[in-house]
Amino acid sequence: MVTLAVGPHEDFAQWKAAFSRVMPDLRVVWHEDPDLSPSCVDYLLVWEPGQGTAARFPALKAILCAGAGIDHLLQDPDWPHDIPLVRMGGEETATLMEEYVTWACLSLMRETRTWALQQERRIFHRHLTTRTARDTTVGIMGMGHLGTRVAHRLSAFGFDVRGWSRTPKNLPGIEVFAGGDRIADFLSRVDILVSLLPSTPRTRDLINRELLSHLPPGAGLINVGRGDQLCEDDLIEALDEGRLSGAILDVFRHEPLPPDSPLWTHPAITITPHAASEASRDGQVSYLAGVIADIERGGMPELLYRPERGY
Ligand code: NDP
Repeated sequence: MVTLAVGPHEDFAQWKAAFSRVMPDLRVVWHEDPDLSPSCVDYLLVWEPGQGTAARFPALKAILCAGAGIDHLLQDPDWPHDIPLVRMGGEETATLMEEYVTWACLSLMRETRTWALQQERRIFHRHLTTRTARDTTVGIMGMGHLGTRVAHRLSAFGFDVRGWSRTPKNLPGIEVFAGGDRIADFLSRVDILVSLLPSTPRTRDLINRELLSHLPPGAGLINVGRGDQLCEDDLIEALDEGRLSGAILDVFRHEPLPPDSPLWTHPAITITPHAASEASRDGQVSYLAGVIADIERGGMPELLYRPERGY
């Protein structure tokens, strides 16, 4: 029998019930079940496991992460780097991200933050814009699983879309720039910059004064990648000087965002609480059941952490 252990801080009863609907033959156990022999555990499901949890299970076939970003797991000095680490994926995760970024692009274009501030003060000022998606170039940093899905959705919506990634891509209708040498070219025509990059030593602090200086005047920023990519002071400076027009931020260097952060009250910044894309429990379990079935058949899922790349 295949055994999955559910890690710390997870809602065990909810995971167990959801797996029993989709994969009734899977044995789902709590990671600290006193009757559990660690060597009988095939899969460990975690989001915030704490130090040493993963290393307790010597016979894992894979560790399943309950989120798409895995950077925080690798901080564990006892992390078993030789065990495949699978990232959260699935149709619902991708669709939610497509729709969040589409909403965020439209919000920046229509300057909805201004309307929200006016509403708070009961101001009926007709602040209008005639810009449409067809007049707007969206640049996506990170053309991986999610970035590519978002690019296709925005392109179908009418936006002019371009991307930037580490390695070249060949996508119909979407120009993709690859590598650090091409980033200035990529940014030079971007009206709305979206980060869908993972957190790695190379992406940390990437969105800084220098990078923002390559954007055309009045550009906007959407950060759904990871908070440590953005130098928050540099963003605020660019907004205050009018070089950027607005930002929508979903991820932060420190989460929850501290109450005294100046980002909360900035008139050109919209904050969402790391809520861009988290699939329902059933959506997550249907994806993870597919992953387990794939590995049991001798395959390996596509969304795998690759240590040699760092993401
Ligand atoms: P992928 O690993 O599929 O894609 C990552 C992309 O980033 C790839 O295109 C990769 O390039 C590119 N990349 C990585 N390092 C660099 C670099 N140094 N320079 C240029 N490009 C680089 O990840 P996903 O698309 O699945 O997810 C991306 C991130 O989105 C996650 O790591 C997570 O942080 C974030 N996320 C946020 C959520 C939210 O709710 N806010 C929800 C889900 C994910 P290449 O293609 O060449 O490998």
